Amino acid sequence: MDLNIFTLTFQGANEARFMTKYYYDSLLQFRVSFFLVTILYALFGYLDTIMVSSSDYRYFFHLIRYAVVVPLLSFVLIFSFTKYFKRTWQFLVFLSLFVGGLGVSTMTVLLPENYSYFGGMMLIFFAGYFFIKLRFFYATMAGWFTVIGYNVGAVFFSDAGSETIINNNFFYISANLIGMFAAYYIEYYARRDFYLTQQLDKQKLRVEEANKGLERKVKQRTFELERRNIELTEAKNRAEQSDKLKSAFLANMSHEIRTPMNGIIGFANLLGEAEDKEEHDEFVKVIIENGEHLLSLINEIIDLSKIETGLLELDKREFSLNQLMDELYTFFKSDKNVLAKDLMVSCKKGLPDEKSIIIFDRTRLKQVLMNLINNACKFTEKGSVELGYYLNAGQLVFYVKDTGPGLDIAQQKYIFERFLQVTLDRKPEQEGTGLGLAIAKSFVNLFGGDIWIESEPGTGSVFYFNLPIENGNGKLIEFEKQNSSYDMEHNWKDKVILVAEDVPTNFLLVKKMLRKTEVNLIWAKNGKEAVDECKKDQQIDLVLMDIRMPVMNGLEATKLIMPIRKDLPIIAQTAYAMDSDRNRSLEVGCIDYISKPIDLKAFIELISKYIDK
Ligand code: ADP
Repeated sequence: MDLNIFTLTFQGANEARFMTKYYYDSLLQFRVSFFLVTILYALFGYLDTIMVSSSDYRYFFHLIRYAVVVPLLSFVLIFSFTKYFKRTWQFLVFLSLFVGGLGVSTMTVLLPENYSYFGGMMLIFFAGYFFIKLRFFYATMAGWFTVIGYNVGAVFFSDAGSETIINNNFFYISANLIGMFAAYYIEYYARRDFYLTQQLDKQKLRVEEANKGLERKVKQRTFELERRNIELTEAKNRAEQSDKLKSAFLANMSHEIRTPMNGIIGFANLLGEAEDKEEHDEFVKVIIENGEHLLSLINEIIDLSKIETGLLELDKREFSLNQLMDELYTFFKSDKNVLAKDLMVSCKKGLPDEKSIIIFDRTRLKQVLMNLINNACKFTEKGSVELGYYLNAGQLVFYVKDTGPGLDIAQQKYIFERFLQVTLDRKPEQEGTGLGLAIAKSFVNLFGGDIWIESEPGTGSVFYFNLPIENGNGKLIEFEKQNSSYDMEHNWKDKVILVAEDVPTNFLLVKKMLRKTEVNLIWAKNGKEAVDECKKDQQIDLVLMDIRMPVMNGLEATKLIMPIRKDLPIIAQTAYAMDSDRNRSLEVGCIDYISKPIDLKAFIELISKYIDK
């Protein structure tokens, strides 16, 4: 408790707070007691009348009472009802007490033998210290000033003997000392109570705040726990779901892989037993078809794992969108489903040829479209399949529309999920992995677009996806009539191509593919041989470089060839899945790349691009 024990004042702002509280707590008691004191002071005038025989003194005493003290007390009492009182009340009460005390002292001095005035003085001390709520400091001052006043009066103006003065002083001083200590402790305890109450209030507030904080924390915790619970339940459901789906997927996949493998191995074994060329060709056709199916299955799985691991990168190049649409149209016109069910296939191109040049990942775009068209052809029993695109607010919107079975709202919600299939009782030609749409969606999202479906059961479906082309993802550029070498016959009999390839069948494939061009081929079975050939033979016009080879790989070989033959175009052959190989091959100096399995037309076109210059 920061209380000055001599002056009985608090440090700082607490003093003002205490004084305000003390004032309001005391006001009623002060008024009642002050009123009583005023009345009594007036009533005691009756004693003057009956006890004072000298009319001069009686008149003088009445003058003190009724002209000085009672008016002063009455004024202070009335003033206590004004707002100014709060600031001056201790001083005014001190003044009242002092003046009242001096008044009675005067009477005691003038009539020392009249002991009733001596009693009056004791009453004054009593009232000052205990009754009218004067603070210790003011009450003490008033008390001692009154004693001093009495003594001055008694010594100079009284004819009382020194015994009477000493006797009176004994009582007055004792009364003051007792009053002083009593007032001191009354105020001390009042202040201590104030301080303790204040501390209690503070503690209470702190406890309340802590309680509130605690409640808030408990609520927050409960909320968090509930949320975590929901998340965990969801995660658990997802895990269970994905577990189920993955098991179903694996079972499905094993079936998917076995089916074409069966065809390939079975018919390959039968090849030797073919009765004639026709049967032989038929077997070969089955083997090729099954091989292609297997390849697309493997590609889908690889795509999926790349998407899942975030490894997929877009390879943006310039190409003609309309040409791509034509390609797809031509391809699907002779699709086995379309032919078997006599479906009408049409294609609507939203831009004229000269404006349909776009910079984008052609392979991935084609893949998404192939997927959608393939589904449309697979699931539509009769009617038509239309593919097309249009330009809408800076976006290319592609669509594939069919007159197939359609999908209801519930089915529409989950067909884009991985491993999910709606059509469960499938015909053999409707076989699928349940991955196509999921992959399409992931690709489209990677393009920065959205994929959605509008469909009605029984009427058909339209699958849409958009491609934001003005946001850096890709862009449309003006078309300058390109020299399409697509259908051109090539004759490269005076050209030399070095094929770096370790697998003989692959070299054989390249040889057969390029047979018609009459190009001269040199076969290097690894990177080191390729480097040696380049050093030896300055006539080489182009190198087809396989990347993964024994002794020295294609990247190393390219690095060594580049300084010897700066102008020699080297085309890397990479496995379909290996984006990293492609990028690295371009980094070390390859001019282009082609993915295995090699598409014949694309292959010839690519070589022509560099060799026909
Ligand atoms: P799948 O390999 O089974 O075709 P997708 O992911 O491509 O897998 O398709 C998921 C499911 O959506 C299919 O099993 C099929 O039930 C349904 N579906 C897809 N395209 C169509 C369509 N054009 N018309 C009707 N149903 C379709």
